[in-house]
Amino acid sequence: MFEPRAEALGMLSHKNFLSPEGDTLESLLGRLTAQTSEMVDCLRQLVELESPSQNKAALDRLGRHLAAQFANLGGEIRFHKQESAGDHLQVDFAGSGKPILFLGHMDTVWDLGTLATMPFRVAKGRAFGPGIFDMKAGIAQAIFAIRALQELNGRLPRALTVLLVTDEEIGSRSSRPITEALAKKSAAVLVLEPAQGPKGALKTSRKGVGGYLLKVEGREAHSGLDPDKGASAVLELARQLLVIEKFGDGKRGITVNPGVVRGGTRSNVIAGEATAEIDARVSRLQDIPRLDKKFHSLRPFDKRCKVAVSGGIGRPPLERTAKVASLFKLAQGLARELGFALEEASVGGGSDGNFTAALGIPTLDGLGAVGEGAHARHESVVIAEMPRRAALLARLVETVP
Ligand SMILES: [Zn+2]
Repeated sequence: MFEPRAEALGMLSHKNFLSPEGDTLESLLGRLTAQTSEMVDCLRQLVELESPSQNKAALDRLGRHLAAQFANLGGEIRFHKQESAGDHLQVDFAGSGKPILFLGHMDTVWDLGTLATMPFRVAKGRAFGPGIFDMKAGIAQAIFAIRALQELNGRLPRALTVLLVTDEEIGSRSSRPITEALAKKSAAVLVLEPAQGPKGALKTSRKGVGGYLLKVEGREAHSGLDPDKGASAVLELARQLLVIEKFGDGKRGITVNPGVVRGGTRSNVIAGEATAEIDARVSRLQDIPRLDKKFHSLRPFDKRCKVAVSGGIGRPPLERTAKVASLFKLAQGLARELGFALEEASVGGGSDGNFTAALGIPTLDGLGAVGEGAHARHESVVIAEMPRRAALLARLVETVP
């Protein structure tokens, strides 16, 4: 269980920490802390409704379950229907002013049936299960943050929209326009993705992420009878990869990784085809066109080969702009009032917050669970952190300008 630090307790009666209706922070955090087991139960239900990105039926089952939870809180439910992807869930809570957007995803990287070998369980203050950290606990915390605000004030202090998409883990192709449209209408975007590291840092910068596909076409020939007639696509690809390696620039935060290569048919055939799938990440928006140009100016070493490049950086970087920094400062101050120290981190992975930040909308990411093991079998969340992260979310809704 969470125990507020002594100095924080001393601050709780200060009038600055009264919400407009006169309820103290203590009652916000106290209430959420008292609801911890209920929150864990809500989380268990979310985890036990498995929701791999590719399974529409499973995603829609979870979507309906979540819609019922939000409808109970008085939210107006709207599904953005999809043909093959799961339906994206939008929930609007009426209130004054420009809305805050809670942004999350309900899909996970885990196949249906994973629960059989990786069931939801609680041990040593942690809850385990597929998708629990990335990012079902973040969704549970958001539900309880909304509920606490309503219980304490009778209503939400402002308009609030929740968007839970179903394709974040596979690139957000169908949800991106919805995310961007809602972000443009919002005062700020609070992303329910997991916090970073054991201290639960917020993510104030994320790399832009994309992928390139390099296809080399060579000329097949018998390696023994006609070695001179062949032009090896594999050798050409190998030469290209050494060029591509140099596109990386650690100082600027540019990485390129040819994680998958394929080519050739048999060892006694000079390879007619070879491909490489290259993961590419950048820290700065301005590096996207530069990197793109480099990839597209690749030319074959062996003139008999053809080199074709496709792809690009699909998710722009979340840069630590002044807007992001000031939102973080606000959160840090609120966390201090709640009795914990909040840090910020820069990470290599992207999220849907990258889209909203690139539009210039103040975006704060990593407001979900504290835990570890995203996309790994030991994926888990720290239960005692759940009420205070929910409290932080609630306070942000109250105070973001
Ligand atoms: Zn995620």
